[in-house]
Amino acid sequence: MELLKGKPVADKINEKTAAITEELLSKDIVPTLAILRVGSDPSDIAYEESAVKKAKSLGVHVEKYIMDAKSDESDVLDVLKVINDDENIHGILMFRPLPAGMDEEKVRNHLAAAKDVDGITDAALGGIFTGNVSGFPPCTAEAAMTILKYYGIELSGKKAVVIGRSLVVGKPVAMMLMAEHATVTICHSRTPEEDLKAACLDADIIICAAGRRSTLTEDCVNGKQVVIDVGINFDEEGKMCGDADFEAVKDKVKAITPVPGGVGGVTTALLMHHTAAAAAAYAAMHKA
Ligand code: NAD
Repeated sequence: MELLKGKPVADKINEKTAAITEELLSKDIVPTLAILRVGSDPSDIAYEESAVKKAKSLGVHVEKYIMDAKSDESDVLDVLKVINDDENIHGILMFRPLPAGMDEEKVRNHLAAAKDVDGITDAALGGIFTGNVSGFPPCTAEAAMTILKYYGIELSGKKAVVIGRSLVVGKPVAMMLMAEHATVTICHSRTPEEDLKAACLDADIIICAAGRRSTLTEDCVNGKQVVIDVGINFDEEGKMCGDADFEAVKDKVKAITPVPGGVGGVTTALLMHHTAAAAAAYAAMHKA
């Protein structure tokens, strides 16, 4: 089994980001990411802390906009307008899901297209579906694809199974795999367990993005699969784990990403890279 570690992939992206950032700083442009968090979800806060640390090491400035979970939707839209209008902010990371009662579709579509560094607006997602990509793709879906590419995993003509159909990971990654000429099957919460198992046993590549422990079990693999485990879950002892039963499947797959140490670091690296690229695009437009 080959362990597909995220670190070398992230390091390569971070090098490029640091180079862009250095050039921008020499023109007095500080690439800046706004983080908008509504509420205090512990996993959001954990991700925010690691993103802030990573940003600092790459010369990306972060401005946090923290709002109470009881805020009105109109307050969130007002804050988004401030961020959209601020010329010194180049990218926006908005944590989702938003608190219950908010129209998430409406709110996420208020992000300025040029600042949508995590590909959450319909315009950015639409480009992935039509092949007419104009903005930034969702970082997590792109991270899964970047890992496959870095490790030279062939996709053309291969069978890929995506477990999960969210707009954050499942749907966009399925389209990205298809764009690389893979034959894609999407499984989700209503897929009967035996169908999911059969699809996985027949697959060359499996992307796990269900957000549920033990979704990929030993009896779903037979030695030929490359597994990208996007899931972030916690076991009874509070230890982070993915969607795959790592210990049980690791010797029955061709390759697998660890959790932690796989997709997560690459996702953050791409978020910073997108922010730096958005700042560079801003600089080019304003001839800085
Ligand atoms: P989500 O809850 O929005 O979607 C989960 C999807 O999984 C749904 O489409 C659902 O139909 C499917 N699903 C649920 N149970 C299933 C089952 N038993 N069998 C088959 N499909 C099932 O979650 P999301 O935002 O897409 O995130 C998925 C996972 O990825 C989560 O664990 C999340 O924490 C993680 N994540 C990781 C990163 C990273 O950088 N590593 C980034 C974003 C999300």
